[in-house]
Amino acid sequence: MKLILLGPPGAGKGTQCKRVVDRYNLAHLSSGDILRAERAAGSELGRKAQSYMDSGGLVPDDLIIDMMIAAIKKAPANGYVLDGFPRTVVQAEGLDKALTAAGEKIDAIVELKVPDSAILSRMTGRRSCPVCGQVYHVVNLKPKVDGQCDKGCGALVQRKDDTPDVVDHRLKTYHEQTAAVVGYYENKYPILPINADQEIDRVTADMFKGLDDLAR
Ligand code: ADP
Ligand code: AMP
Repeated sequence: MKLILLGPPGAGKGTQCKRVVDRYNLAHLSSGDILRAERAAGSELGRKAQSYMDSGGLVPDDLIIDMMIAAIKKAPANGYVLDGFPRTVVQAEGLDKALTAAGEKIDAIVELKVPDSAILSRMTGRRSCPVCGQVYHVVNLKPKVDGQCDKGCGALVQRKDDTPDVVDHRLKTYHEQTAAVVGYYENKYPILPINADQEIDRVTADMFKGLDDLAR
């Protein structure tokens, strides 16, 4: 199964992806996680991406397309979920071109729908494990021990781009450049709209139901 998970920043893409990849045995290809790993490794790509990420803008399309196509090529045959990519119509076109050349296609687009009013508190309360990538929330999804990853990895961190100012810019960027990607996929691939403005487990249940129906 090859899926694309779309939705605004803070919609719950990373949270739901972890559950989807476990259930269907897929690879989780998150452009944000890959960029953060490149930055941590001090690579040229990481250095180039840094200023865009810190301000809440988008990293240039050519860098992202090359990075994600390379990740897709390395993904196991069972499939993958793309999280955070494509974020522009140019990226979606670049992905299509590469998939067509490889004789592949996407099975479905999952669209997590959530109003802007729910986003700020989700993102400012987000805490992540820098080791395993597990995502928590100070209110909505607390770790068992305050500030520590449940999997024993150590201390959780708050992302530097989860401050109110940067969140505001990321939301604007989403509406200006990313929202149109859903329209690009209409009539191309099946789109599964999911109400992501409900409890995390309810969102998961709705997604699993839709994806199980699709897999039948
Ligand atoms: P994205 O990957 O789309 O940016 P995340 O999965 O990292 O979003 O979720 C952002 C924050 O919101 C996290 O702290 C997460 O625990 C929390 N969260 C995710 N889904 C929900 C939900 N349905 N209701 C409340 N909080 C949520
Ligand atoms: P995320 O973890 O998905 O919230 O992404 C964090 C940041 O990484 C974004 O605010 C962007 O600066 C950058 N980024 C992630 N994915 C992309 C993408 N597909 N295109 C451009 N920039 C991206």
